[in-house]
Amino acid sequence: MSALGHGKKYRAGVLGATGMVGQRIVNMLASHPWFELTAVAASERSMGKTYEQATRWHLEAPIPEAARGLVVKDLDPTLDCDFVFSALDSSVAGEAESAFARAGYPVVSNSKNHRMDPDVPLLIPEVNASHINSIPVQQKNNKYDSGFIVTNPNCSTAGLVLVLKPLADAFGLEKLFVVTMQAVSGAGYPGVPSMDALGNVVPFISGEEEKMESEPQKLLGKWDGNRFIDAGLGISAHCNRVPVINGHTECVSVRLKKTATIEEVKDALRHFEVPDELAALPTALKNPVVVRDEDDRPQPRKDSDIGNGMAGVVGRVRECPLFDVKITLLSHNLVRGAAGAAVLNAELLAAKGFLKSRKDAAAAVEPVTR
Ligand code: NAP
Repeated sequence: MSALGHGKKYRAGVLGATGMVGQRIVNMLASHPWFELTAVAASERSMGKTYEQATRWHLEAPIPEAARGLVVKDLDPTLDCDFVFSALDSSVAGEAESAFARAGYPVVSNSKNHRMDPDVPLLIPEVNASHINSIPVQQKNNKYDSGFIVTNPNCSTAGLVLVLKPLADAFGLEKLFVVTMQAVSGAGYPGVPSMDALGNVVPFISGEEEKMESEPQKLLGKWDGNRFIDAGLGISAHCNRVPVINGHTECVSVRLKKTATIEEVKDALRHFEVPDELAALPTALKNPVVVRDEDDRPQPRKDSDIGNGMAGVVGRVRECPLFDVKITLLSHNLVRGAAGAAVLNAELLAAKGFLKSRKDAAAAVEPVTR
């Protein structure tokens, strides 16, 4: 049964559908039990072309049939759909997402622009599903009618916070030091020039360290009914671009609030389970943190697709001589860190009654002709 009932699906639009993240969303919607793709939008470069003509397709699976012939629209908030995903470049995402929310569309965004807004949920369902309770406050503050914005975190933050969640629950987190090795697909297409990426490490990703040091505070913090309270964690992040296609690897040292043995830390990671209600969402995993025991895992080429790309994969759990514990984690930046994160957020919104059919709403107010 679909979330909408009577076998109907919610009609989804994708803003930035032609980009790296947008394509992943389009691909995930092709076989989605609750959502169907009915509209795509992108820049003037793509507008008016069919999706197939406008898109340099990067996935192995072919362009889904439902997407091929759709005509790419501009960012006018009049798309034929019930809600939109946004995978827009951040130069345009902020204003476009606000315009769609004002026009009554729920917006499920990947972009950085609204993540830290005081009434916008920055959401990882397995970590802070209750933050969607800020939506009515956001609607009131902005005079949105049925529209609103929810966001998912930056791609390196997504894996980090998912894997740290069981440790936060079991022992509390005091501070962490993280060094990333981030895939080139995290920079979109064409992204990092090959002359910079190949055989090289680039020790700078604009804005990334700032995001990694601020977004976990909101994600692991609380919504108190009026505002988000930060987790108050000490975080230091170093972000590097490495010549890997997909999958961000992160080396993390953690100071816990409560003393724990390495076995207790491994147990907490291994036994992390989400509630049945969340596990029932189509894209969710019951155990979204996967522990590898081998000395040389996780590795991006071998482990990025675990759990259809939705797992946080962690290994090398060991004592840290400076802090308490050190770990190496991996997550698929385009799935767990972007498209899959957004689809899961939309599923949570559907399950919690935050999505509505705009067609039915329009039909209900259409004048009766005699
Ligand atoms: P991308 O491959 O560069 O795609 C950007 C998309 O934005 C394209 O569809 C592009 O359309 C559209 N766009 C660009 N300028 C536009 C304009 N002026 N008006 C309308 N549309 C415009 O980037 P991406 O990697 O998919 O990232 C998309 C968003 O997700 C970004 O905000 C990024 O920071 C965020 N994000 C990315 C990742 C990742 O791993 N890549 C992870 C998390 C979040 P055209 O094709 O028509 O130019």
